[in-house]
Amino acid sequence: MQNADLVKAWLEAQLPAALELLREMVEINSFTANRAGVERLARLTAERFAPLGFDAELVPSANPGFGPHLVLTRPGKTGRSIALISHLDTVFPPEEEQRNNFRWQREGDRIYGPGTHDIKGGTVMMWLVLRALQAHAPECFEAMTWKLLWNSSEERFSPDFGELCRRHCGGRTLGALVFEAEGRDGRTPRLVVARKGRATWRVTVRGRGAHAGGKHPHGANAIVQVGRTLQRIAALTDYSRQLTFNVATIQGGTVLNRVPHEAVVEGEFRAFTPEVYENAKADLLALAGPGDVHSPDDGFCCQIEVEILTESRPWPRNEATDRLYQYWKRAADELGLPLGWEERGGLSDGNLIWDAVPTLDGLGPWGDNDHCSERSPDGSKVPEYVEVSSFVPKALLNTAALVNLAEEPAG
Ligand SMILES: [Zn+2]
Repeated sequence: MQNADLVKAWLEAQLPAALELLREMVEINSFTANRAGVERLARLTAERFAPLGFDAELVPSANPGFGPHLVLTRPGKTGRSIALISHLDTVFPPEEEQRNNFRWQREGDRIYGPGTHDIKGGTVMMWLVLRALQAHAPECFEAMTWKLLWNSSEERFSPDFGELCRRHCGGRTLGALVFEAEGRDGRTPRLVVARKGRATWRVTVRGRGAHAGGKHPHGANAIVQVGRTLQRIAALTDYSRQLTFNVATIQGGTVLNRVPHEAVVEGEFRAFTPEVYENAKADLLALAGPGDVHSPDDGFCCQIEVEILTESRPWPRNEATDRLYQYWKRAADELGLPLGWEERGGLSDGNLIWDAVPTLDGLGPWGDNDHCSERSPDGSKVPEYVEVSSFVPKALLNTAALVNLAEEPAG
């Protein structure tokens, strides 16, 4: 980009309007389960992007308890397209926001508030960057077909949004850009080039109940069995392969004078590579079958059942993402800005689309403490915030990188 100083000054001048848009968005509660709030935010978003020439489509979620996904499209002069991805929902129920007085609050360089960082700041970043392209790289802006996609329920399990993205991203989509917050290494921003996959699971043990006084030897104790089984699950964690198992909840038994007939544990596991992920899944499933806790009198055996509840497959390190990252790296070098990359443990919509379209993540601004709403007087607990001064440099970088990407010869 030739006129970087000019674009930077323009972005600085647009920042108050961008923050005003962020404030409007943060003031709408869009907790995933707040269907009406999510839809209100979708409509506000469509309205604010409309002056840029975007047509809106609200797509019902596969889960009737969630609000609609949002798709905005602006057809370009060529058949090439770029997808920008964000989400509408946050993790904060309205009651929690009230209880913790968690709302829009600017203090110095920080703005606290639900979704400031995850991910309404990212949505505002999209708005800033597209406006910068329209004003300063109009050929690029007009040439591309822009597809903007917002998941209504990213913070929950929503595989239907992945299918929606795939339908909208054909063979000539140059990239799917996810506007989750950037990482940092000291002051160096980091983009996200890979994310762990995650499966959630449930293990149910069925033993045999018995009167704990009169027929104790007749019982096969499901809690004793589940205690042994969960030790085996926990032992599947292997940090050397970046594989983690978390045994997260446990339930079992009824009253104290019964040998318990049933016990249930639930949890998740995460891994970066498809191979480690698949092996982990196989190891977990192999625990199913007869257990090693028996009733003393007739050898009745506890039965172990293993279910995979949900799966979000890994987004492993891959060539297409690395190639896309190079456009940002080159732009950063040209602008004299530091930039690095990271592989992140948490999921995003990048997990749903990386194998269909080259995907890059972490394009949003910088902030911290996402998914936290509490604040303590001693400052040991601080809620989610976004850093105001991170918007302009990141918007400048994203704009320059998109110009580089759009100027690449077709094919
Ligand atoms: Zn997010």
